[in-house]
Amino acid sequence: MTATSTSSATARYITQVEEYGAHNYHPLPVVVHEAFGAWVTDVDGKRYLDCLAAYSAVNFGHGHPVLVDAARAQLDRVTLTSRAFHNDVLGPFLEGLARLAGKDMVLPMNTGAEAVESAIKIARAWGYRVKGVEHDRAKIVVAHGNFHGRTTTIISFSNDPDARADFGPFTPGFVSVPYGDAAALEALLDDDVVAVLLEPIQGEAGIIVPPADYLPAVRRMTRERNILFIADEIQSGLGRTGATFQCDNAGVIPDLYLLGKALGGGIVPVSAVVGDASVLGVLRPGEHGSTFGGNPLAAAVGLAVVGLLETGDYQRRAAELGEHLLGSLRALVGHGVVAVRGAGLWAGIDIDPALAGGREVCEALAARGVLAKDTHGSTIRLAPPIVVEREELDWAVEQLVAVLAELGA
Ligand SMILES: *Cc1c(COP(=O)(O)O)cnc(C)c1O
Repeated sequence: MTATSTSSATARYITQVEEYGAHNYHPLPVVVHEAFGAWVTDVDGKRYLDCLAAYSAVNFGHGHPVLVDAARAQLDRVTLTSRAFHNDVLGPFLEGLARLAGKDMVLPMNTGAEAVESAIKIARAWGYRVKGVEHDRAKIVVAHGNFHGRTTTIISFSNDPDARADFGPFTPGFVSVPYGDAAALEALLDDDVVAVLLEPIQGEAGIIVPPADYLPAVRRMTRERNILFIADEIQSGLGRTGATFQCDNAGVIPDLYLLGKALGGGIVPVSAVVGDASVLGVLRPGEHGSTFGGNPLAAAVGLAVVGLLETGDYQRRAAELGEHLLGSLRALVGHGVVAVRGAGLWAGIDIDPALAGGREVCEALAARGVLAKDTHGSTIRLAPPIVVEREELDWAVEQLVAVLAELGA
């Protein structure tokens, strides 16, 4: 989809965004006007199958009636009180999410990055107050290729040059090891390490699935050494991988779950740190907070999201559809596709770099009515809303096959 093939309405709109918006994104030239379920419609009435789902924030589909109704009902009552007072929806949300996760407590925040930042503070405070680490010595171990958000502290432990380049000086207290290498991790675990922070599957890195014994090994070695295991499930959690958490698939229970994206149902930003009282209980009044965190509108939507997940239907559907999707994609290996990785309804597809870059493939897919997103050169990822139909997935794969054929595969 080159600029010449876009309509004048689309071109006008994109020019406006480029003129008045900061240039921190490079979107595909698609201007969405409305969306329902797995489909979005652009300003010219062209329809696209959404195979990104806002990076899994729209796991339950656009405009899910149960979630929209919950938001609408709350809009008519009260939307913001701040935590200076109680509101009557936060409690049910906190209890529901804690139960869903099998943990004691929830710290509600807004964006994913805030959940990560909160967990870093909690882990450090836990290290000093509970584990007995000497003040200002706490270390948190992370993995190469991580993506945990965009704040100054979080980019301090990224190894993506674009994320970091001119944004130093960086926050100290982090060490990074190769992802998926339990022995390399173990070698770094000394008495000053308070936490290991990992994505159970690295999303932005290209849907990197670690070896099956990796997360169990991390769990064992952190437990043996009294170190917290923090699982960033902001993208992998809440149904995407065919389970409530990807940690369930790996057979591990972390000390803290970090949740975001789909927790807000695609309606409002809602994030959370979920853990046991022995860890989350370290926070005292005045030490941490957020004006919007736990607001009634967010809590109403978050509670409705928990309700959708309680049945297990979405998790099962993602597992079944995902197996089907990954099967069809794996059949393309050797035909313009170099490798396919994934779990549940979440796929990373390495396109043969000799054929095209990921961006080019995504532009060609958009022209054919499939929205997907490239990451790191020639990888594209698919993460359609879980409400997508099997036939729609088959159609999307057909479009990919057609694009690869056009490119000469
Ligand atoms: C998206 C994401 C974040 C950051 O979430 P924001 O809401 O964009 O701040 C953190 N961790 C992971 C794994 C993510 O995918």
